[in-house]
Amino acid sequence: MYPVDLHMHTVASTHAYSTLRDYVLQAQTCGVKLLAITDHGPDMADAPHYWHFVNMKIWPRVIDGIGVLRGIEANIKNLQGEIDCSGPMLGSIDIIVAGFHEPVFPPQDEATHTEAMIAAMAGGLVHIISHPGNPNYPIDIRAVAEAAAKYDVALELNNSSFTTSRKGSEPNCRKVAEAVRDAGGRIALGSDSHTAFTLGQFDHCLRIMQEVDFPQDRVLNVTPRRLLDFLEMRTGKKIAEFAEF
Ligand SMILES: [Zn+2]
Ligand SMILES: [Zn+2]
Repeated sequence: MYPVDLHMHTVASTHAYSTLRDYVLQAQTCGVKLLAITDHGPDMADAPHYWHFVNMKIWPRVIDGIGVLRGIEANIKNLQGEIDCSGPMLGSIDIIVAGFHEPVFPPQDEATHTEAMIAAMAGGLVHIISHPGNPNYPIDIRAVAEAAAKYDVALELNNSSFTTSRKGSEPNCRKVAEAVRDAGGRIALGSDSHTAFTLGQFDHCLRIMQEVDFPQDRVLNVTPRRLLDFLEMRTGKKIAEFAEF
């Protein structure tokens, strides 16, 4: 059990069904202490308007003892690695997850996916790449893991990739974990919950990490402090309300 979940969607992405309050209530029962709400970036059809992200600055930082990070699952838009998180959104968002989604970046070929993903990491805004094991977007896993280590971007193990989404991800996810282990990079775990009931569920991710003997000291979710230190190191910004976490 890890007390940090870094990937979930609320009713603001209309194919998801829980609210910020639902996630906080679930966190209190399942042992999650720090969570990041990561609704889809505005280029997705079911995503909120970009004002949604700008206005997240009005959220309480800590709700009933649970730390809440203002996040986004942005879209990698093109070969230049641009993402749909920019301008005034950047002033309100704590954590940027980014990945490929079919409506924004139709699948092409391995060389194109690899170049776009590495460019997104090199851009300096992205903290975590979501579901890099998606079989619809083959990548040069070793090259991506080496770039991720170089730019200090975590690659995600996404628990939903083993249950409800992106069928056939498992062999790729195992290769991602091995490549990140060998490149000296970091792994981030995300439940990718679309209802609060799966918050903090990482059983398949844990199994993969065990299989490849992934070092615990390079998993961002082990403690809230570890994740917050990573974000502070990447952004140069300290969030005062999380000093006690
Ligand atoms: Zn996604
Ligand atoms: Zn997602």
